[in-house]
Amino acid sequence: MSFDLIIANGTIVDPVNGVAPGDIAIRDGRIAARLAPDSGVGARETIDATGLHVFPGLIDTHVHFGFGEPITEYTTETIYAAQGGFTSILAYFLSSESYDDIFDTEYAHAAARSHVDFGFHFSVASERHLDELGGYAARFGVNSFKYFMNFKGEEGRYLGLDGTDDGYLYALLERAAALGDITIVIHTENIELVNRFRRASIAGGGSTLRDWNLSKPAFTEAESTVRALAFAEHLGARIYIPHISTRLALDEVRRWRDRYDRVVVETCPHYLTHDLDADIGSIGKANPPFRSADDVAAMWEGLADGAIDLVASDHVPRKRATKEKPIWSASQGFPGTATILPVLLDTGYHRGRLSLQRIAQLLTSKPAETFGLRGKGSLSIGSDGDLTLVDLNRVREVKPDELGSFSDYSLYEGWTFKGWPVRTILRGETIMADGVVTGRGGYGRYLARGAAAPTAPVLQR
Ligand SMILES: [Zn+2]
Repeated sequence: MSFDLIIANGTIVDPVNGVAPGDIAIRDGRIAARLAPDSGVGARETIDATGLHVFPGLIDTHVHFGFGEPITEYTTETIYAAQGGFTSILAYFLSSESYDDIFDTEYAHAAARSHVDFGFHFSVASERHLDELGGYAARFGVNSFKYFMNFKGEEGRYLGLDGTDDGYLYALLERAAALGDITIVIHTENIELVNRFRRASIAGGGSTLRDWNLSKPAFTEAESTVRALAFAEHLGARIYIPHISTRLALDEVRRWRDRYDRVVVETCPHYLTHDLDADIGSIGKANPPFRSADDVAAMWEGLADGAIDLVASDHVPRKRATKEKPIWSASQGFPGTATILPVLLDTGYHRGRLSLQRIAQLLTSKPAETFGLRGKGSLSIGSDGDLTLVDLNRVREVKPDELGSFSDYSLYEGWTFKGWPVRTILRGETIMADGVVTGRGGYGRYLARGAAAPTAPVLQR
């Protein structure tokens, strides 16, 4: 029996079976065997993972393209993902046009450049999107769609999106439930309350991250989360709540899960590391805002006890200059993929908040299960040979220029984290080793998802 690659002498972090020493053998890009240490089995190549932990390839389900430098971002941001130990990403594709008219072009840009496997969630905002939902699933293998509760009236115009309302959300969830195997990602925010609080804050001279938070207080997230859950339960739809940020909203999810459990909840690394007193000005502007220290504690509790299902970045690759403005006009969001794992290892594992197995679940098995990523997020035989080798004791300072994003800054610039990925392996090929990206653009494959998904060759037309 011969293998292409054996990862030998490492400690395996299996999201299902836990942490144990062992070797992993790969053939034809897939996991072909799990071996006892020192099995003596041969392979074309052996990587000695002594002292390292071997995770399934990490998956970031919340990435934004199109805000930095379109097209080339598919190169820079997937290099950045590989630097962070990520082998798969799901990006939000936001448009008011029919995806039937624009998908092929976007797909071609990404397929020619991506260093990691990639897929898309489509944002839906028009009646045509609603009519075409089933077709998108069948033709493009997209089984997740994003809805912004806050894009009422002109609020979404900065992203080119039409205004919507609760009637549209109702019709969308009804359609998703009827189609089956569809997840609706819902940005929960009561914008009618926010508009009022924002006017008051601006009139009162508000200018800080604390004021930004007060314009979108916890209740505006919690109330809209309850409304989303009520709609989902009534219509039997499966929903996903991205970037949860407050204890108030998370407590509502906990209560609701007793009566309706078809909800998946995500938080982002910055809600684990920053609160509203962070002294970084508009650099720290995000939506949702940084919250209170108690909210930060609640996010850690939710990750540990399972109320929060996964962590994703909400990565936005803009330049620092777009942030260096007054709080009300600065751009929202920041780069995040490549620092997710160091945040969870340093601030989570090393401080006793999360086990390694739990971190593997948050970043691999749960994202794969939630969005139907076949062959991903698993170390079982037959899964894709996607592995992230981690040095738990590697201490490294965050230097944005070393990570490869189009962005020229990081929230964590100058922070030192203990615990970093040192090798990223995608379908049996090393795409990053010791901070050097060795893969090539175009190696990343499209992730067609869902029962109705076409196979990849259908898309490579
Ligand atoms: Zn986002």
